[in-house]
Parts: sequence; C-alpha cells; structure tokens
Amino acid sequence: MNDNFAREINYLRISVTDLCNLRCRYCMPEEGIDNKLSHKKILSLEEYARIVRVAARAGIRKVRLTGGEPLVRKNLVQLVKYIAEIPEIDDIAVTTNGILFPGVARELKEAGLNRINISLDSLKEERYEYITRMGSLHQAKLAVFKALELGLHPVKINTVVIKGFNDDEILDFARLAHEYPLHIRFIEFMPIGDLLFWKKERLMDADMIKAVIEKEFNLQMACDIQGNGPARYYQTAGGKGSIGFISPMSNHFCSRCNRIRMTADGMLRGCLYEKQEIDLKPALATGDEEEILRLINQAIKKKPARHHMNDGWGMENERKMYQIGG
Ligand code: SAM
Ligand code: SF4
Repeated sequence: MNDNFAREINYLRISVTDLCNLRCRYCMPEEGIDNKLSHKKILSLEEYARIVRVAARAGIRKVRLTGGEPLVRKNLVQLVKYIAEIPEIDDIAVTTNGILFPGVARELKEAGLNRINISLDSLKEERYEYITRMGSLHQAKLAVFKALELGLHPVKINTVVIKGFNDDEILDFARLAHEYPLHIRFIEFMPIGDLLFWKKERLMDADMIKAVIEKEFNLQMACDIQGNGPARYYQTAGGKGSIGFISPMSNHFCSRCNRIRMTADGMLRGCLYEKQEIDLKPALATGDEEEILRLINQAIKKKPARHHMNDGWGMENERKMYQIGG
C-alpha cells in the first residue's frame, strides 16, 4: 500500500519488549528503563502474529523484530514460527545485541528467521564493556560467527559511531567487512536516547566516516544487498562483505522510507521520530480484524513526509529508542 507521498509501505518493525540485558550508555540508563511497560500492556505473541497477518493484507511483506532486546522476550522462536506461517511475509529479520543469540540461533533459523542484524559498537573488549555497561564482546562475536555459520545472510553489523568514543575503530570495522562476508553499517548517532551522550558534537556524519575508510580502501558503490533499506552500501576491492552508511541526520532517506513501526504495547507509528501513535489494543480486544486493518492503513496514510530529528538535539523524546524499537 502507498502512503500519501507515493511511498510503498511494505515493512513492519515490531518492538517485542522494552527490556534489555544491556545498558548501552547512549540508549538506556544504568538502573534500567523508566516507565517500564506493565506486563498487562505488552501484547502476547499471538497478538503480534494476528497484527502481522492483518498487516499482510495492507501490503506488509517484511517484518523485523526488535526492542529493547528481542531475545529477552520469552518464546521469540514461537513468534518467528507464527510469522513464517503467513504466506505473504517473505522476510523475517531480528535486530539484536547478540548476547543471547548463540543459544537460540538454530531454533530461530528453523522457525523461519531469514536475517539478523547484530549491534556492535566496539571491537575492543574494555570499550565494549564500557559502552554496554554489562556486555561481553566475546559473546557478541560468538553471535556474529554463529549467524555466519548458519548462513543467515546477509549478516549485518550495526555500529553507531560516536566521536571521541569509537571513531578510531572505523578502519578496524572496515577491515572486518573486507575479510569476512559481513555487512558493516555505520549509523549516525541520533538525538534519541539517554541524555549522557545527547550532544551534537558527538555526531560523526557518514561523509566523515567514509573519508576515514577511504584512507585505506577504494570504495565502490555496491548494489543489491538484500534488505537494502536506508543504507548506502560500498564494497572494497576484493572484499568479502560490504560497508554501509545509514545517515538519518546528514542525508535523510525519508523519501525512500518503506516502514511503519509498532511498539511492544501495540502502538503504531509512522516514523521513529513522530510522536503520533495509533493504539491497536482496543481493536485487538474485540478481535475486530477489519478495524485493525483500518488502523494500519490509517498509520500508513499518516506517515509524515520526513523526520525532524535534526531539530531534536537536547530535547527529551517521549519514547526512547528501546521503547519504539530501533
Ligand atoms: N537491542 C537490540 C540491539 O541493540 O540491536 C535492538 C534494539 S536497539 C535500540 C537497535 C539499534 O538502535 C542498535 O543498533 C542501537 O545501536 C541503535 N541505537 C540506539 N540508540 C541510538 C541513537 N541514539 N542513535 C543511533 N542509533 C541508536
Ligand atoms: Fe539494549 Fe539495544 Fe539499547 Fe543497547 S542499544 S541498551 S542492546 S536496546
């Protein structure tokens, strides 16, 4: 289905929980989240599956499960199974910090998971522990290699570049994409999340990151990395993977945006940065699928032309990234 700006919307991102087993400094406060969703408000796996089934009638073909940390949600494998049974859905992906992934990887794949994005902001053990407050780089790396071993291609790595924190590792990440069939995506830091890192000066834009990589590699534009989305991808000569840039701040890709989002408590959003939400819970409670469809169509039609994140530095966002689903 097309929105009011002739964009075809075929991608639904679902946050399945606002909880997380890490506390990345730019994302969550140390003590965990404020305004934690009550257990009663969080939708059941069956409710998510029902929404996806109806969303497929509105033209949704791709689903990504995210969070918070999606793998802390009990029985995520079952949800993947439910979604895989919907004939119109041809792509199921997960965005995860990877820590719990090796333990459920095979089950997820067998349930129908097609692809995985693993977030990794540093390749240095101490730094990784610092930014995640409680993560182990070893565990995250195991997740990456498990995803490769299971052939969950293309395996993508999400790296948020923060000036003065990990910008000296840009080339290390690029070398990883050269040596392994990994798709490293450098993401511009956005003004959403925990206040400590909410400083515009911390933003390193895609052109700056690319310039660092070009000191060592000759980058050629790459085409057709599955699940292309908003990233611009490049390849190094003879490299096995690719290097992508997601630049919501310096070069927003809103005109090509194909997604809507849903929070763990069933609120539909047309944009990460848009405050307007549409509540699916009342319609779910009555089981009225025509009403659910009407609301999904409404969310698609209400999708804004573009985000206004560049005005957002220093402003408190009502919902944080881990609540909306990054
Ligand atoms: N827990 C999972 C993970 O970390 O992959 C999924 C949820 S997390 C919110 C999704 C992605 O959002 C992660 O790659 C994270 O680095 C990114 N993210 C969180 N806050 C961000 C910010 N302020 N700017 C840019 N990316 C951010
Ligand atoms: Fe958790 Fe992902 Fe946020 Fe890190 S970025 S605290 S892993 S939700």
